Amino acid sequence: MGYREKKPASETPSHSGRPQSLRRRLLALLGVVLLVTLLIIGAGVSYFVFLTEQKAWQGRQGEAARNAVETVAAFIQHLEDSLTLVSLLDRDYLTAEPHVMRDLLQQNPALLEMVRLDAGGKVFASAYQDAPLLANLFTIPQSTWFRRATAGEFYLGNIQISPAGDPYLVIAVPAPDGGVVAARLRMNVLWDVVAAIRFGETGQAYVVNQGGRIVAHTKPEVVLAKTSLAGRLELVALSQSPGNKWNGAYVNFEGTSVVGTTAPVPGTGWAVVTELPQAEAFAVSRTAGLLLGGGMLLFGVLVIWVTIPLLGQQIFQPLERLRAGAERIGGGDLSHQIDIARQDEIGQVAKAFNEMVSRLREREDQLAARTAALADEVAERKRAEEALRKAHDELEIRVEERTAELAEANEALRAEIAERQRVEEALRERTEALERSNRELEQFAYIASHDLQEPLRMVTSYLQLLERRYKDSLDSDADEFIAYAVDGAARMQGLINDLLMYSRVGTRGKPLEPTDCSAVLKSVLANLQVAIEENGAVVTYDTLPTVMADETQLMRVFQNLISNAIKFRSDLPPEIHVEIERNDGEWLFSVRDNGIGIAPQYFERIFIIFQRLHNRSKYPGTGIGLAVCKKIVERHGGRICVASEPEKGSTFYFTIPDIGGNLS
Ligand code: ADP
Repeated sequence: MGYREKKPASETPSHSGRPQSLRRRLLALLGVVLLVTLLIIGAGVSYFVFLTEQKAWQGRQGEAARNAVETVAAFIQHLEDSLTLVSLLDRDYLTAEPHVMRDLLQQNPALLEMVRLDAGGKVFASAYQDAPLLANLFTIPQSTWFRRATAGEFYLGNIQISPAGDPYLVIAVPAPDGGVVAARLRMNVLWDVVAAIRFGETGQAYVVNQGGRIVAHTKPEVVLAKTSLAGRLELVALSQSPGNKWNGAYVNFEGTSVVGTTAPVPGTGWAVVTELPQAEAFAVSRTAGLLLGGGMLLFGVLVIWVTIPLLGQQIFQPLERLRAGAERIGGGDLSHQIDIARQDEIGQVAKAFNEMVSRLREREDQLAARTAALADEVAERKRAEEALRKAHDELEIRVEERTAELAEANEALRAEIAERQRVEEALRERTEALERSNRELEQFAYIASHDLQEPLRMVTSYLQLLERRYKDSLDSDADEFIAYAVDGAARMQGLINDLLMYSRVGTRGKPLEPTDCSAVLKSVLANLQVAIEENGAVVTYDTLPTVMADETQLMRVFQNLISNAIKFRSDLPPEIHVEIERNDGEWLFSVRDNGIGIAPQYFERIFIIFQRLHNRSKYPGTGIGLAVCKKIVERHGGRICVASEPEKGSTFYFTIPDIGGNLS
């Protein structure tokens, strides 16, 4: 089998379609696996770096916060100590030495003003750098700071702005004498303190008071804008934190993502917040991540760059060869062998393919052989069918011919049947006409013989009278003539009697009755007793049956036959035997003698009326006996015939049907 025509491209995938798709899928899988692996590793490493960095930063920030707290606390403590020192000074001394306060103020540039009040709120010593705001206050006893300080508390007030535009806040401590030492703290100094607390590149710290207001910040405008952190995470978390310190990542009030730590400043109600922008805090993590990502990307690209040719060489090219081979085989080229000499799966597939192809080739050869055999068989069958068809056609033609012949024959047969029927009909008509004319003839014969008797008797009587009376009176010729006439008349009478008797067989017959033939024969023999004895005849007979017959007529038959046997005797004494034989449906009687016999040419003739074979002078008779026998036998439904040989005797046969019913 040759190459089959290649299917159109729309039906089979293009040469490059399948392998490319497989390559793409494999590479995609590889890429995905690589990506996921690298991502997991990258994420893990990054997360680890991030955690490490976060931990480091938390530690460093905690440290910074602690430092900041300590700095602020030390600063405030210093102020408090200064104020407490003043509170310990004697009223008189202070009144006497007003410069003490001034010196103290000058030593402490953070203080704008310091006042010493008695328990009633009356200023008895003061010093100031810009303006005597506290000293000139009229409502001291109502001031919060005074009331709180007299209550024994250390008071730190809110930020206020002096008429000169300096921000300050009021500090007050209780004095042992029930009075109060208060001072205005120059915020700038605190701010400078806070601004000095730095960590990292951009880390900063600020201070919030118990109300959440920012009281110190690197940027004074933040403080001056009365920025409050009340309700924000960093403060709320601190208030909820059990360790009195909180750190976390959040977006601060300036909108910067930061990591921050909040810690309270002991003894003040303030809190220090240190913040570092996340951008800086996790710079290392980010760099590490970037480096890691880049490295991994590079690694991935490298892996793919190495893998693709390797895959191509190890898998795709053999696969392509396998596919091309399979396509060629699929196209019908069973002589093709896929040339991949490898021990791996592809090699095994190729080997299996090659084996399959050789098996297919074998199968195809077998199939071709079988197809050829089948084709032969089909051709043979076709031939046989053709022959069969021809035979069938011929048969049909012959059947048609035969049918036509048959139809013709049928037609002829029909015509013949019609002809026969016509002939039968004619025969029947003729038979009927014959029977009719026979009957009429019989009637005529009877009537004629009967009616002829009377005139004949008269002729005979008168001829006899003439003979008697004129005998010897006429001449001898006349006597002789008269004698002839008398004899003729007498013979005529005999003939007419015979004829009458013959005709009476048909017309005066008695009904048939069961008749014992043995008895009939015995009566006949009794009647013929004289003749038997005279001729020395011996008559023997079988036991005869009873048959349906007219007894008188049957007697006549026996009597005629036996008397003939005696009459036509030879020189030997007559031996007569009557026999009976049962043939199917009838009795066969036979009367055998040893007389003169009859020549065969007369066998028919002797049964005709008045037919005789001999001269009357030798054997008297009229020739009516056998004719009467025939008529009687036929009336009884039987037949009569003779078998004889001249000089050897004759046998007369007649049949009587063996029936129980009547015959008319
Ligand atoms: P007939 O006896 O009056 O002559 P039949 O009719 O009885 O008339 O017989 C016809 C003829 O047949 C006879 O004339 C005779 O020649 C012949 N015939 C009849 N019976 C016998 C017989 N038993 N043997 C030889 N001839 C016979």
